[in-house]
Amino acid sequence: MIYNLHTHTYRCNHAVGSDREYVEAAVKSGIKVLGFADHCPQFFPVTDYYSHFRMRPELCEDYVKSVRGLQKEYERDIKILLGFETEYYPQMFHRLIEFIEPFDFDYLIMGQHFVGNEYDEQSYYTPRGDRGENFLASYVSQVIEGLETGKFTYIAHPDTVNYSGSPDFYRQKIRELCEYAKKHDIPLEYNILGHTNRKCYPNPEFWNIAAETGNKTVLGFDAHSPEALKTLDAYNECIGELEKLGIIPAEFEDINIVKP
Ligand SMILES: [Zn+2]
Ligand SMILES: [Zn+2]
Repeated sequence: MIYNLHTHTYRCNHAVGSDREYVEAAVKSGIKVLGFADHCPQFFPVTDYYSHFRMRPELCEDYVKSVRGLQKEYERDIKILLGFETEYYPQMFHRLIEFIEPFDFDYLIMGQHFVGNEYDEQSYYTPRGDRGENFLASYVSQVIEGLETGKFTYIAHPDTVNYSGSPDFYRQKIRELCEYAKKHDIPLEYNILGHTNRKCYPNPEFWNIAAETGNKTVLGFDAHSPEALKTLDAYNECIGELEKLGIIPAEFEDINIVKP
């Protein structure tokens, strides 16, 4: 059964299409579970930083209404879930949870696009590259700290760090991350958008370690347009890549959906 818990909407400013178009495309492709996980608003404690690639807080109500409406309307064709993709920023996470709680979301996925708190000087965009061992170590400890909150259903593109450093160190840190995820039954996402757009992820080195560790794996379309759900070609290519590693993606029923 094909499912996808990683779908964006136009509200994040870098995705296109109406919510309904995503649902229609998913139904036509035979996807049985569609989770919306748009980029969550963040509450930066400064006024001189504005983050353009996420939903503004005032759009959240409309997002919830729209997705819950479609969930009811299409209940015979597809199971729809309402979620958010978010970074774990230690300085603001409490405020984020406080904000989303009243909306009764189904789940959160962690997409750690930055190390640090995004707005501060220590922050760095994870796929940007040219970062060595300290950066990788910070990424791994920030992700684990975030998972410790118990709020996340899975880790989106856990392999976004564009690393340049000793391969031994990479293996050591990634094994630490994979072992934590396995111990706490938190799946790792093999990102289909990264595959399609030839980003620095999915990283074969990372997935070799995940295969050795035996991590629960999910495929995520990371759809930023309804077109991404209209064909299963990329999905099937990713299944093939995982097969070579001996990884069989988890069934939807085996994923522990954590209510934030
Ligand atoms: Zn995005
Ligand atoms: Zn995403």
